[in-house]
Amino acid sequence: MSIQIIGVVGAGQMGNGIAHVCAQSGFDVRLLDANPDSLPKAIATITGNMDRQIKKGAMTEAAKAEALGRIKTGADYAIFGDCDLVIEAATENEAIKREIFKKLCPALKKEALIASNTSSISITRLGASTDRAAKFMGMHFMNPVPVMQLVELIRGIATSNETYEAVKELTAKLGKTSATAEDFPAFIVNRILLPMINEAVYTLYEGVGSVESIDTAMKLGTNHPMGPLELADFIGLDTCLAVMHVLYDGLSDSKYRPCPLLVKYVEAGWLGRKTKRGFYDYSGPKPVPTR
Ligand code: NAD
Repeated sequence: MSIQIIGVVGAGQMGNGIAHVCAQSGFDVRLLDANPDSLPKAIATITGNMDRQIKKGAMTEAAKAEALGRIKTGADYAIFGDCDLVIEAATENEAIKREIFKKLCPALKKEALIASNTSSISITRLGASTDRAAKFMGMHFMNPVPVMQLVELIRGIATSNETYEAVKELTAKLGKTSATAEDFPAFIVNRILLPMINEAVYTLYEGVGSVESIDTAMKLGTNHPMGPLELADFIGLDTCLAVMHVLYDGLSDSKYRPCPLLVKYVEAGWLGRKTKRGFYDYSGPKPVPTR
């Protein structure tokens, strides 16, 4: 099974990164988003990120032009008709993802594969909502996609070996390293990372430390490149909360209870970097802690 044309549903921070890396690695890309503003924004982001790679000497102007020329955008699922694989990278909400698969499946050729970039939702359940559970699996890229080395691969109970091998081979062609996880809530990376972030929000909520002291403590005390609150803003607080809900509901253990302060921030629409406010305020030249 050879993958040559790749579709991406969702052109947010992950979708544009996935499109970027696929196009840069020589694949033709079809990118779709429900929000018409997202597509030009995604192309502008990819262009800016490629310019940064050029400045660092990691890409040439010619390679940039070629890669950008491989990305086609659209709002109609018919653009996925010639795709060998479609990667779903829309908002972390099961109802939204199911709705996408309902529209996507009839537009695909019958041998096409589907992967979801979900951070936490059951791959088996998502696969069962499609017409091709054997050709469905999790392909969990890390943020920012052009920079991060890992792709977590998750097989649902019905995923065929052929599908898994094809996606694993593609991961290597994208210059990434894969780690395989079983299909349990939040897989490996977020099963470990998100409870730590949630605990950092509790630490703030209970007044144990300020935003600055919590992030400084974890950066310098545990050698993490980013503090947990800075990282939460980077991931998106809505995504963080959605993952905690999946852990709490899926494992029925109170240790995964989302911190009420995280819930409050999401209710306020303070989702982190993408809305210019989360645990830090990003409206000025430097992020300013909000607590
Ligand atoms: P985002 O909010 O930046 O982007 C989501 C995009 O999906 C938006 O552009 C939105 O318009 C689009 N969308 C919403 N409903 C849609 C629909 N019905 N059809 C088509 N497009 C639709 O979110 P993100 O951070 O890019 O996250 C996307 C996915 O990637 C989620 O499943 C998330 O859990 C996963 N993920 C996120 C991170 C991270 O650090 N943010 C890391 C790994 C995986």
